[in-house]
Amino acid sequence: MDADHLSQRLATVASYVPQGARLADIGTDHAYLPVNLAKRGIITGGVAGEVVPGPFKNAQHEITKEALDDRITARLANGLQAIEPTDHIDTVAIAGMGGTLITQILTQDFDRLAGVQRLILQPNVGEANVRQFLMTHGFQLVTEQIVSEDGHDYEILVADCAEAPQQYTPEEVQFGPYLLAEHNAIFVAKWQRELDRAQVVLRQVQSAHEVPAEKIAELETKITEIKEVLQRVGA
Ligand code: SAM
Repeated sequence: MDADHLSQRLATVASYVPQGARLADIGTDHAYLPVNLAKRGIITGGVAGEVVPGPFKNAQHEITKEALDDRITARLANGLQAIEPTDHIDTVAIAGMGGTLITQILTQDFDRLAGVQRLILQPNVGEANVRQFLMTHGFQLVTEQIVSEDGHDYEILVADCAEAPQQYTPEEVQFGPYLLAEHNAIFVAKWQRELDRAQVVLRQVQSAHEVPAEKIAELETKITEIKEVLQRVGA
């Protein structure tokens, strides 16, 4: 992958950045996302935020190599602290991290999201945490995608600033309201795998010397929920 050839996962994230946006890419690593979008004339500028010095240097190098220093600023900062009011950021992307970390980053410096119209979030795991955050922090999901790449499934959640975001059921928070409605083959395969995994773990904990009742109840609930969804979507 490079800035001219994004992975399908990052290309999907990129496809939801509005024309003319000012983007903050938090956890940018090589800054491939903002550099790609600037080269294609999609974003007018923005910030490439990184908390680790090595990737931050990579980002700086990439931006300078493509002569984009006048449009994209690399900042060594923790999460949303990379965003300054004078950047006029309206779109934030956070991709390639766990959902818990993404939620922490968004919650920690929530005031820095003032003026942000769109969030494009790609959690590697823990997607439900991210949906819960959006629903309770004034962001309305507008679409969700699931892509499969190199043996992994990735969910991409797109949300716009809204006064009264729709409140989703626990099932929608877990599975994703748009992904549930569409229930494409990648979605079905993901949850079939999750079901198989949960059933294996359940058998293991049931055969333990001291049977952990709470863990068993949790797994049984999860298995029932997944089975119900898979049955409903005809899998
Ligand atoms: N966003 C790129 C992508 O999706 O391909 C890179 C993903 S990489 C796996 C995650 C990056 O996030 C790493 O470079 C890591 O240093 C950075 N990161 C982790 N926590 C961060 C934080 N609190 N603030 C900024 N960057 C962070």
